Amino acid sequence: MSDAAPDWVREYIGEWRDRLLLAHWRIHLFTHDAPGGDEQTRGMIELYPEIFTANMTLRSDVTAEPDDDWRQTIIHELVHIRLAEISEFVRDDVLPELGPAAERIAGAAFRRALEPAVEALAHTLWSLSNVSVPTEE
Ligand SMILES: [Zn+2]
Repeated sequence: MSDAAPDWVREYIGEWRDRLLLAHWRIHLFTHDAPGGDEQTRGMIELYPEIFTANMTLRSDVTAEPDDDWRQTIIHELVHIRLAEISEFVRDDVLPELGPAAERIAGAAFRRALEPAVEALAHTLWSLSNVSVPTEE
């Protein structure tokens, strides 16, 4: 992981990598003014499931101290890793079987379906992580 990101980001990724059972993944962390060429994008992930490697890029204004919005962005990107086998199956086994036009349409439809599901899972995981468990007295 890059030295450019604050320490809390690296620690948080490690914490959630374990929770999501992704310890066998290598996660490289980068920062960029405009991840994927879009300065509105807070984070993006590139997946290489065949070698259990992911490149996570966070926008370079990621806060020096822990921040809830950034925490949710990080969990969102890690959920993409958790679902990488599904994405890989669609990308490598389904889409290439279609003609070019159908491949483009189906690829866009898959991404449109995937993003809200990833966001819902990330939001739920983040919410659950903030629920305090009552202690027995
Ligand atoms: Zn996403």
